[in-house]
Amino acid sequence: MKIYKANNQNIKLAATLLNNEGIVAFPTETVYGLGALASNKNAVKRIYKVKGRPNNNPLIVHIYKIEQLLSIVENIPLDVMKLIKKYWPGPLTIVLPYNTSSNISSIARAGLNTVALRMPNHPVALKLLKTVDAPLIAPSANISQHLSPTSAQHVKNDLSSKLDQKNDMILDSGNTEIGLESTVIDFTKAIPTVLRPGGLNISLINKIVKTSYVESNINEKKPESPGLFKKHYSPNASLRLNADYPLKGEAWLGFGEDPKNLNNFVKMNLSKNKNLEEAAKNLFSMLRYLDKKNVKKIAVKKIQNKGIGIAINDRLNRGAANKS
Ligand code: AMP
Ligand code: MG
Repeated sequence: MKIYKANNQNIKLAATLLNNEGIVAFPTETVYGLGALASNKNAVKRIYKVKGRPNNNPLIVHIYKIEQLLSIVENIPLDVMKLIKKYWPGPLTIVLPYNTSSNISSIARAGLNTVALRMPNHPVALKLLKTVDAPLIAPSANISQHLSPTSAQHVKNDLSSKLDQKNDMILDSGNTEIGLESTVIDFTKAIPTVLRPGGLNISLINKIVKTSYVESNINEKKPESPGLFKKHYSPNASLRLNADYPLKGEAWLGFGEDPKNLNNFVKMNLSKNKNLEEAAKNLFSMLRYLDKKNVKKIAVKKIQNKGIGIAINDRLNRGAANKS
């Protein structure tokens, strides 16, 4: 599977492929997305198949202008308008009641009467959306439940055998800026609820709309959001969290200054000076790197649970959840 540089010519080609039921992996500011026309049943079905994603896990619809939002949903609260005015384009996904006269495939919505939407803040993503001039679904471009891709090479490693050389495409625009997925807020609940912490800090959202976020909601049998099961974002190796030092046979994923005498260990450091944004950006690519070293276990240093650290810990906790 060839990787295409995300220049104007290749973005045009990508739009043509999308209009012919193709799949295009493209960069956003969070992670690489696997795009298809949200209205096209066949293309949407292929996305689920390529990812091996359970069909009860709805997809996020990506748009480039507010008019698209207005035609896809109904009953937009004033607070939500305020929020998106400030944070769109950006790593914020909102769930609202679906307008049944819109044409988003019901498969993409997992049959729900609600829909999740986001306007990504990346020039390539926005240009592609504008060129197609139709909403795209774009889940992370990885095998379901595994680590999300933060580079075009990650997408190729995961999906090249599943994509079609002629009809699909991977657009490359380097490493993603944020490195973690968007924050998902459900506005169809009496109290707006954080379904997934992510690239936009919950504390910033709460300044405009008070939301509820319950960390202990992580529950295998009754996920807080359809499809958001406890095990997710998993490397092949198992994770040992809040570690101070790697044990024999473990790899080390540090945060802050590393402990001494790590010479005999496979190791990486998310951020030597405890910068949470840097750690978020490095998380998935470092886990991928360590995973490739064939270690059985990765010991991970404790990460501060504030700001984007809340999203990092969410991913680590899910990554550490037992295989079900
Ligand atoms: P991903 O596509 O992997 O970034 O995951 C998107 C997540 O958004 C899903 O796992 C769901 O948890 C959430 N989501 C999408 N649509 C809805 C919806 N209509 N209602 C609630 N959650 C949703
Ligand atoms: Mg995903």
